[in-house]
Amino acid sequence: MIAPLSVSFRAGRHFLQIPGPSNVPDRILRAMNRATIDHRGPEFARLGAECLEGMKTIFRTEDNGHVFIYPAGGTGAWEASIVNTLNTGDRVLMFETGHFATLWRRIAEKFGLNVDFVKGDWRHGISAATVEAKLRDDPSHAIKAVMCVHTETSTGITSNIAEVRRAMDAVHHPALLMVDAVSSLATCAFRQKEWGVDVAIAASQKGLMLPPGLGFNAVSAKALGASQHARMPRSYWSWDDMLAFNDKGFFPYTPATGLLYGLRESIRMLVHEEGLAHVFQRHQRLAEAAREAVGAWGLELLAEDPREFSSVVTAVMLPGGCDEAEFRRVVLNNFDLSLGAGLGRLAGKVFRIGHLGDFNDLMLCGTLCGVEMGLAKFGLPPKESGVVAAMAVLAKVPSAVASGAA
Ligand SMILES: *Cc1c(COP(=O)(O)O)cnc(C)c1O
Repeated sequence: MIAPLSVSFRAGRHFLQIPGPSNVPDRILRAMNRATIDHRGPEFARLGAECLEGMKTIFRTEDNGHVFIYPAGGTGAWEASIVNTLNTGDRVLMFETGHFATLWRRIAEKFGLNVDFVKGDWRHGISAATVEAKLRDDPSHAIKAVMCVHTETSTGITSNIAEVRRAMDAVHHPALLMVDAVSSLATCAFRQKEWGVDVAIAASQKGLMLPPGLGFNAVSAKALGASQHARMPRSYWSWDDMLAFNDKGFFPYTPATGLLYGLRESIRMLVHEEGLAHVFQRHQRLAEAAREAVGAWGLELLAEDPREFSSVVTAVMLPGGCDEAEFRRVVLNNFDLSLGAGLGRLAGKVFRIGHLGDFNDLMLCGTLCGVEMGLAKFGLPPKESGVVAAMAVLAKVPSAVASGAA
């Protein structure tokens, strides 16, 4: 046997199947591989305007709304949503859907909001009936915002935002509706105008297939109005300064020019070439195949309600006594495949398979194959082949591309 000279090179492609950052397509990498231009010059104005307009299409923002783009991540965009719309001491309604909801709550409390955090079991989404009951209980309209995570990336559960809106309307409550769409945007339907979402929060590194580094606030006219009366201190995140500059395609401070080249390419791919309807269908189909694999392995999904299954990520429970961190180590070391960790109270118990962004049938099968081989190596041999089960779903559910419907 020939001893390896070095183990620092690993042949073949790394599989990055965490639920964000997602894989960046070559086309986007090439689009970003350009000299930085003057961010006050005419060429930049066209780039800025194309990105701002394109993001309104992706969020399905109302005509009078606006999308703010920050050099930031989802966490920054969370903070921006709070400081632009609310006042210290305001009551807000939030829901313990999982780890990301818990983090957003922590930020809200740091800014002195009075958070009513509706307890959850991390296996279900937001109950619209609870929203309605809580708001009915608030005839004086002390609650200023209802803050929801759309797809809770830690659990693989997507809440029904249209139902949350219906619950708010049923009791004619004027609170702002704020939605974390960080992982749901461009992976499943998101309809800001139709659902009456006042502030939608997103980031670049999930469905938009970009590297991390851009944060978004998509804002309704009502939220823009609320920002006129919100007195929390803000500077970097201030919508006012941004609006004046964005009007001409510019930004008040240096934007992330390289990422904006990538965003323009992403918008062209998602909106103008593949089409958002197909993007959502593709995600749904791959997610269904992934869930089928989990059942074949003899493992349990964390998500309990099929109506809430997410297209972005599948969270899988390991039997008691099995450590997901150790399992993920086995998979990474043997197959160069990164899976998502158990977050917060799910650490050690749940691993997550990301199936979002630039992703297709064969990438899914490769990913599931890595999990399947990893389970055997880990000492938890799969009951049946999940890959075969997933292939059956892929064969049965047509892809719009293959059928020429795209
Ligand atoms: C990834 C993610 C975030 C955090 O985004 P960062 O860019 O890491 O700050 C927030 N919410 C959800 C639902 C996410 O998936």
